[in-house]
Amino acid sequence: MRTVKGRTDRVVVVGAGLGGLACALHLAGSGRQVTVLEREPVPGGRAGRLSVDGYEFDTGPTVLTMPDLIAEALGAVGEELTDWLDLSPLDPAYRAYYPDGSTLDVITDTTRMAAEIARVCGPREADGYLRFVDYARNLWQWERADFIERNLDAPTDLLTGNLLKLFANGAFRRLQTKINQFFRDPRTQRIFSFQAMYAGLSPHDALAIYTVIAYLDSVAGVSFPRGGIHAVSRGMAGAAEKHGVQFRYGTTVTRVETANGRATGVITADGDFVPADTVVLNPDLPVAYEDLLPPSRQRKLTYSPSCVVLHIGSTQGYGKIAHHNIHFGRSWKGTFDEVIRRGELMTDPSLLVTNPSRTDPSVAPAGKHTYYVLAPVPNLERAPFDWTGDLTQRYAEQLVGTLEERGYVGFGDGIEVMEAVTPADWAAQGMAAGTPFAAAHSLFQTGPFRPSNLHRKLDNVVFVGSGTQPGVGVPMVLISGKLAAARITGATA
Ligand SMILES: Cc1cc2nc3c(=O)[nH]c(=O)nc-3n(C[C@H](O)[C@H](O)[C@H](O)COP(=O)(O)OP(=O)(O)OC[C@H]3O[C@@H](n4cnc5c(N)ncnc54)[C@H](O)[C@@H]3O)c2cc1C
Repeated sequence: MRTVKGRTDRVVVVGAGLGGLACALHLAGSGRQVTVLEREPVPGGRAGRLSVDGYEFDTGPTVLTMPDLIAEALGAVGEELTDWLDLSPLDPAYRAYYPDGSTLDVITDTTRMAAEIARVCGPREADGYLRFVDYARNLWQWERADFIERNLDAPTDLLTGNLLKLFANGAFRRLQTKINQFFRDPRTQRIFSFQAMYAGLSPHDALAIYTVIAYLDSVAGVSFPRGGIHAVSRGMAGAAEKHGVQFRYGTTVTRVETANGRATGVITADGDFVPADTVVLNPDLPVAYEDLLPPSRQRKLTYSPSCVVLHIGSTQGYGKIAHHNIHFGRSWKGTFDEVIRRGELMTDPSLLVTNPSRTDPSVAPAGKHTYYVLAPVPNLERAPFDWTGDLTQRYAEQLVGTLEERGYVGFGDGIEVMEAVTPADWAAQGMAAGTPFAAAHSLFQTGPFRPSNLHRKLDNVVFVGSGTQPGVGVPMVLISGKLAAARITGATA
């Protein structure tokens, strides 16, 4: 494994996103003197917090999987997860709603889930589910140590026995094709393949190696921390601070200072120079190269679709929904084609509606409710819509109307607070192509083909977060923190 060169005692981490925080914890645990410089007043980055009129909203991730990775980062400084977070499993993990009016609960417990599938789709489909669980569990085991939780320097690093197992088991076929070998019912086909979208691709284009995402949420389970996902950011920052990591919030870094092929420190918007032996950059990787580092040729990347998120505080409650609800439209492949290939808004939307106040009433004023509505939309490279104009209001109204048609009676009337976040906002926050989901996980933007976490020329600059390896999503950026730290400490991750 390649590592940074020279001294590594004083490390400056730019950005307190979950990737930066995980890296800071791993570095502090190995005795480095760490300073985190964060532009915002709070930690978490995309896992941030929006407070409006007594309503508390998570700004980004809502589906939390693999809490053992949070435990691992906290464990690096000798802290216990249970001292920092009050996590409970969500049961069901999701509720899926189909256009024919049927619903299917996604339950983590395999036996109960098989019974649920048998109830909705029949016993043969439940058998397929059990075969799918075995398949996906194996895939996760084969991929995890060799390809995900490992710093990969060259394509030849991929040549392991597990690669052969993946090939032999069809993991390099299309994800939808593979899923359809286990499931015949369009409802199960959708609920176990839509996660390709998290990797920025349609299930018809993604490789079956990404079946592991469906495994992580549908089988390994989804948790919710009291106070919302932002509690993870605060917990990790709190633990880091307790173990000597210095945080400077409200500090924007404008440039990495360099001399003789090395970073010497960073310059802040206030003109301060903060010296460092090694610099870790958590801002979106393409933007970090463009804005913070000396000019260099950038590789052209293809980006994931983006999203519009509505944060809604409401007087209306709905007894029949779950914490996470997925409302599928009639169209399936057509929806991916619209958003990803053609750069259009969905005409028959599939939507995620999260209702955190149902699990944790403290996030809303007494007797009131919070909703988080996520609609995939094209990124700004695919479709440069003007989200700063009246499109945002029109689209928000359209989404509210769609939800009313899909059973959220009186949804519009109950709204007290509504904040819409669009690709224009993601771009303004420094995310390439106006997407918070980074470069898509196509084959040549995955593993050793994804932008490296080591700078191409500067000996002591390391990247962390969703723009680098292994990729996007909370579990992956927590792993990226560990991998970035390993580049500095030389530890095998
Ligand atoms: C709407 C949405 C929904 C999502 N849903 C899920 C989900 O359900 N499950 C899941 O696992 N993942 C989800 N994700 C993805 C997940 O949130 C991200 O992959 C992850 O949080 C990114 O972390 P990061 O550390 O890479 O970057 P960030 O969180 O973006 O952190 C970068 C940090 O750097 C700071 N920064 C940037 N520039 C500067 C500068 N110049 N100076 C100082 N500081 C700077 C930023 O303020 C920020 O704090 C979602 C994301 C979004 C936005």
